Amino acid sequence: MTTMPPSSVQSVRVELANRSYSIHVGSGLIKTAGDYIAPLLKQPRTIIVTDSNIAKHWLAPLQASLEASGISCQAIVLEPGEKTKSFAHLNELVCDLLSARIERDTVIIALGGGVIGDLTGMAAAITLRGIDFIQIPTTLLAQVDSSVGGKTAINTPQGKNLVGAFHQPKLVLADTDTLQTLPERELKSGYGELVKYGLIGDAAFFEWLENNGHRVLAGDQDAVQHAVVKSCQAKAHLVAVDEQENGLRALLNFGHTFAHAFEAETGYSSKLLHGEAVAMGSIMALATSERTGSCPPGRAERLRKHFSATGINHKLSEVAQSDWHPDTLLDHMRLDKKVSDAKLVFILAHDIGDAFITNDIPESVILDILEAGLAG
Ligand code: ADP
Ligand code: ZN
Repeated sequence: MTTMPPSSVQSVRVELANRSYSIHVGSGLIKTAGDYIAPLLKQPRTIIVTDSNIAKHWLAPLQASLEASGISCQAIVLEPGEKTKSFAHLNELVCDLLSARIERDTVIIALGGGVIGDLTGMAAAITLRGIDFIQIPTTLLAQVDSSVGGKTAINTPQGKNLVGAFHQPKLVLADTDTLQTLPERELKSGYGELVKYGLIGDAAFFEWLENNGHRVLAGDQDAVQHAVVKSCQAKAHLVAVDEQENGLRALLNFGHTFAHAFEAETGYSSKLLHGEAVAMGSIMALATSERTGSCPPGRAERLRKHFSATGINHKLSEVAQSDWHPDTLLDHMRLDKKVSDAKLVFILAHDIGDAFITNDIPESVILDILEAGLAG
């Protein structure tokens, strides 16, 4: 049986020659997933990897749709949480896949947020030297960022995402309905990440968010779809021109040199979610841009106002403990992946919507900005 996809679904193409793929964005995609997935399969068999929170809401509808399309689907349900993105869990997942007698032509489906997408992508990259996988992102963060572009990773005691592989998915289905069951704080964290697409390259989109961000956060389908499509278009472009991040793709790290330092200091715990750290880091990236004269004044303040108006956690001072010091945070930055020839790499801006990459910022400026952030 073929169900017609809802007409409102919008699609974005990631152009990577013979590894190109589509991102479909809209309501009802999980219910009709079989229609999108069946044409991609060489055997009518998939293995779904998800976590128990997501499984509660979205596993049964996905399985029903796949089965209606004649596709068998075994599910592996993992524990929710960042701890699942570890070597130990990767080991377990790969062994489970092998025990399930996975074959080169079996497709794996990652149904979940960044944790499930990154871990499953990594398992797909290495199991049988690489098998195809499909992303069905269920968090706003994953829909606008991590499910697109083929970065897969696990964490180690030395830091987040330091071990991984580039392995592009064959398809991304961003079903905006899934955000209805997402905890509000997770939704808002994803919003902290989404805003970067306006900041790095699209002033008009930032302005649209200033006017419509509240609709996105209230779950207005049209607004959510527009925001996810705009984000995926921007990301698809940067991935197409620079798949392995040797240049322009690094713009996506706007606010992230700061953000990763804050996350490291909180031990990657739920005290600070990734998108919240990015919101804080984005304000500081604009403040640094103003301080070094590359950006006119008032931009950091404009962003701060937008996060206040939409209720996004963006104040470092509300997360930081009294024992936090700018020097320690700078030390965390030095351990980040974005260090080149021992120099810190920052994404700064000439203005909202016009970001650039630099490794030429004096540490004294960064220390000042961190100090101001800690003071609130
Ligand atoms: P991120 O995409 O931000 O990395 P995670 O994979 O860490 O997100 O997921 C964040 C939390 O939200 C986890 O506890 C996960 O189980 C839960 N979650 C993810 N998607 C949904 C959803 N659509 N509905 C309910 N809970 C979800
Ligand atoms: Zn991010």
